[in-house]
Amino acid sequence: MIRIVFSTLLFSASLYSADWTSLYGAGKLENQRQRLRKDVDLVIAQEIQPFLTVEQAHAFSRIQLDMPVAAQPDASPFDSYSAAEEHITLPLLTVAFVEDMAEAYSWLWANQYSSRTVDEYLGMLRNRLPADFPDNRYPSPLVALHIPNNAMENAAVAKMTQRVRRTTLSFMLLHQFGHLSYRSTADESARKHDTAEADEEFADAFALEVMKKNSETPAGLLMLIHGMMYLPSAPPKNHPVTRLRLKAMADYLDARVHEFSEGRPDRRLATIAIESLANHIRQAGAFVSDSTGQQFWAEQGRKTTVADLLPRRLAEQP
Ligand SMILES: [Zn+2]
Repeated sequence: MIRIVFSTLLFSASLYSADWTSLYGAGKLENQRQRLRKDVDLVIAQEIQPFLTVEQAHAFSRIQLDMPVAAQPDASPFDSYSAAEEHITLPLLTVAFVEDMAEAYSWLWANQYSSRTVDEYLGMLRNRLPADFPDNRYPSPLVALHIPNNAMENAAVAKMTQRVRRTTLSFMLLHQFGHLSYRSTADESARKHDTAEADEEFADAFALEVMKKNSETPAGLLMLIHGMMYLPSAPPKNHPVTRLRLKAMADYLDARVHEFSEGRPDRRLATIAIESLANHIRQAGAFVSDSTGQQFWAEQGRKTTVADLLPRRLAEQP
């Protein structure tokens, strides 16, 4: 009976043991270790360190960054976590997946296609097994989303890819750094909802506070939130995505639109971008608290094939 009950839950237990490394293959990820590590080091040197206070920079320099091929046992390709004090784990799988997702988003955006197919791809990954695909492997984002091989030859795509990728990785690293720097006291949690949620809200605000000083709009944040929504980690989840957490993030951005857009080359565009980001995060909050909508989404995910993910014009939305 228990089995039946569990299988009717949103994500059945069997899917949690899905082997996400099959997206690329463990060997291929290991072969790319040097390039991916260099990339992350560059993000730390250019996007994070210049914006830390002296004390934060000192604390950050003591942190060891571990990059295993994948997080085990139940990795999501968006996983990053902190397994021990002064350690941040950012799997190679996560860095490679973020890179491809950023390129897919950016190519679709630059060519006026809907980003809905990216969400549908994540729903497909979460609700189907590798055995449903050729060679018993999940299709990677660029293959599944039909992104052309020469996508990065378009300068606008390359630039947006870099921005999305870097701000996503910055947020992941800074969120972890926030967790390591601070744990909510029982008193603070009592005033909030629960400890896990209070910790998440703090870590998010910490990351955004640092990113606010950078001149880049945190374009990767929306991709990451969609990733955590549609392809959540196994329970007990790392970094639970709840309505209140998302509301806190949207409120944070809304209250600081001017600070985020200050000093940007095009302040008006930066303002629109931040307001739109906050708005999308609020909508994501409605989704995570809507169990009927999630059930429908899971059913759709079980039916989705790579052929369904052909680029769609914005006007072709159902
Ligand atoms: Zn967290």
